Amino acid sequence: MKVNVLKKTDEAIEFEVEGLTPAFAGELRRIMLSEVNTMAIEWIDFHKNDSVLWDEIIANRVGLIPLVFDPKLFSTKEECKCSGKGCSNCQVIFSLKKKGPCIVYSGDLVSSDKNVKPVHERIPIVELKEGQELEFEAIAQLGTGREHAKWQGAVVGYEVSGKKYRFYVESVCGLKAEDVVKQSFEVLNKKIEEFTEDLTKLK
Ligand SMILES: [Zn+2]
Repeated sequence: MKVNVLKKTDEAIEFEVEGLTPAFAGELRRIMLSEVNTMAIEWIDFHKNDSVLWDEIIANRVGLIPLVFDPKLFSTKEECKCSGKGCSNCQVIFSLKKKGPCIVYSGDLVSSDKNVKPVHERIPIVELKEGQELEFEAIAQLGTGREHAKWQGAVVGYEVSGKKYRFYVESVCGLKAEDVVKQSFEVLNKKIEEFTEDLTKLK
């Protein structure tokens, strides 16, 4: 399998792969969409919400805010040494406290880890009128697009030209597009290894 990168920015990457079968190309695309670990807010504890939006709607909006993080420093709750109780290796706490009149933005979220923060600071969450307050604490953790769209890593398309598959990948999470691709190849390799191991056991 030969990979040739054609264009690359932090947000998007275009590359060709030679020697893929249609099934593998489809599988690689599906992994990039739904099996790459990204960080998103999963739990919110509201202390005050006088805004016109229900807690559930605000929680949904906050959950969809993409977060920058270093994938090498975090593990999923299931794989963490804390056995899923929650610690600094598998979760990040955010807090927010605002009083109107103002528009609450993603950049108003205060993170317990300075390296984990919203990708964009100006994503509007809700408008607060005079005297209205919004106050909550939230927990972000790793997940995949298969569990919920808020953890989707990228939008991905590909076309076939001759013997090559040309992929177009745009990151929609806090990872660089090339990191989404690298993680996807790792997931694909792991699947192949597990399958080979299972085959060996059958002998
Ligand atoms: Zn943990």
